[in-house]
Amino acid sequence: MVTIQAQILEVMNRLSREFGTAIIIITHNLGVVARYADRVNVMYAGKVIETASAKELYANPKHPYTVGLLNSVPRLDQTRKEKLVPIEGLPPDLAHLPQGCPFYPRCAWRVDHCREEYPPFKLVGEKHYAACWESDRVHREVAVGAAS
Ligand code: SF4
Repeated sequence: MVTIQAQILEVMNRLSREFGTAIIIITHNLGVVARYADRVNVMYAGKVIETASAKELYANPKHPYTVGLLNSVPRLDQTRKEKLVPIEGLPPDLAHLPQGCPFYPRCAWRVDHCREEYPPFKLVGEKHYAACWESDRVHREVAVGAAS
């Protein structure tokens, strides 16, 4: 199955280069994203919550959901960790989304304001945008954690 998936992705990759077209891949497989994507849009609760080049996103995630996704899978570009960390909690009910940030109940960086107002999609790096009130703090603390 994995071999067939890899073959199909290679064909798509080749056709994209031959015809000069873009391809949108919708997947939960971060290995596929790292291998094939130039640019990544991370979605949560039906909205794009972070977008950047694949290289930038993997090196400098600035939304807690993206951080959680990256911490929940093995990565070859980082030193081996003791264990993978799942994202606690459940996705929100899309029919009853809260007025604030939908990741609030699951977020380790949340502050009171997050519950009241949906965060704007703001520039947080070169061609890198994130919808998070605390993206600067997330970035600082993730960088410190990765270095220690
Ligand atoms: S806006 Fe607040 S609750 Fe939402 S992801 Fe950022 S820190 Fe967490």
